[in-house]
Amino acid sequence: MFKINENFLNLQDSYLFSTIAKKVAEFQKNNPDSKIIKLGIGDVTKPIIPAVIEAMHKAVDEMGTKEGFRGYGPEQGYDFLRNAIAENDYKNLGIAPDEIFVSDGAKCDCGNIVDIFDLNSKIAITDPVYPVYLDTNVMGGRSGKFNEETGMYENIVYMPVSNENNFVPELPKEHVDIIYLCFPNNPTGTVLNKEELKKFVDYAKENKALILFDAAYEAFITEKNIPRSIYEIDGAKEVAIEFRSFSKTAGFTGVRCAFAVVPKSLFGYTSKGEQVSINKLWNRRTTTKFNGVSYIVQRGAEAVYSEAGKKQIRENIEYYRENAKIIKEGLEEAGFTVYGGVNSPYIWLKVPKGLTSWEFFDSLLNKANVVGTPGSGFGPAGEGYFRLTAFGTKENSIEAIKRIKNCF
Ligand SMILES: *Cc1c(COP(=O)(O)O)cnc(C)c1O
Repeated sequence: MFKINENFLNLQDSYLFSTIAKKVAEFQKNNPDSKIIKLGIGDVTKPIIPAVIEAMHKAVDEMGTKEGFRGYGPEQGYDFLRNAIAENDYKNLGIAPDEIFVSDGAKCDCGNIVDIFDLNSKIAITDPVYPVYLDTNVMGGRSGKFNEETGMYENIVYMPVSNENNFVPELPKEHVDIIYLCFPNNPTGTVLNKEELKKFVDYAKENKALILFDAAYEAFITEKNIPRSIYEIDGAKEVAIEFRSFSKTAGFTGVRCAFAVVPKSLFGYTSKGEQVSINKLWNRRTTTKFNGVSYIVQRGAEAVYSEAGKKQIRENIEYYRENAKIIKEGLEEAGFTVYGGVNSPYIWLKVPKGLTSWEFFDSLLNKANVVGTPGSGFGPAGEGYFRLTAFGTKENSIEAIKRIKNCF
């Protein structure tokens, strides 16, 4: 009799997106003539830019020649891409190419990284949260049981963010070993400024803790004094791993390319208190369990940093930003209290008094035929909030706002 990893039975089924799909399908069936606008999407919609397509075409052709063929590449990524990332994304931050590990996604990186940490590590997450951070630790056995009443797992430290703390998580009151931070945040669209992020870096230093910093939405930052990388904060190279992705930046959600930055000055500890290089451990894990991202995709990612690529990417991001602005300002004119949307494609709105997130979902669908995502689906502190995204078309963003203004 073979046994399963029973930690998986401790996972809560997420009915969030399937419930949304079911409700939308039912509404459409009963109202076949209504034109539903979906602003719940967490995926980009604009096609891949020409510079990337050209580079990938060229790489495909190379693969078909005797001289240009490539088999297994370096597990950590080709030098051409690691160099381009170091030069462009970390120019003045002193990150070396061998501190960059190219991967097929930030989601996998966030999930895989826990391989190299102790099972008894105390984990802190924000609430609401990108579910990957929490669920991968539940799978690994780092959480206690799920408490139906609170909607939280035992033995996980939740740092609630809401309008009450201006969406700035408070430092954990108890000792934690690993803190997940995602800024600009999914789902709230809010950011931390340098001073606010520095408090976490200082906490990590004092407590010999680690910060896992998800910067998947870095490209959407518009304001000054908002760190694009955690390494802009003094001392972060001793306490933080950063995850980035070409998914939201360059529309790579279906192409798949991302990277993790693991500084050589970052050390973890054995139970005896000896220091161990995290860069070395992650390198060992990567070379053992991963065989690298496709050459074609890495050439595509490299082209994101070409002059033409940078310009074309900027235009796409501008397009989503414009949508975010339309949605944010339109909702405000309609009398809603709105967060995010300035440094992020996500708009996080407070649902009208007296309604739950799901009640507002139903009301928005029925009255305005607009679909979004209930905040409570991202954690108990998301109750009373609602997420709209800027990843739709400009026309739909404008039309959705027009309808919302007429209905609310
Ligand atoms: C979209 C997203 C990512 C990117 O994941 P990939 O696997 O690189 O596509 C990472 N983190 C967050 C919070 C995201 O929303």
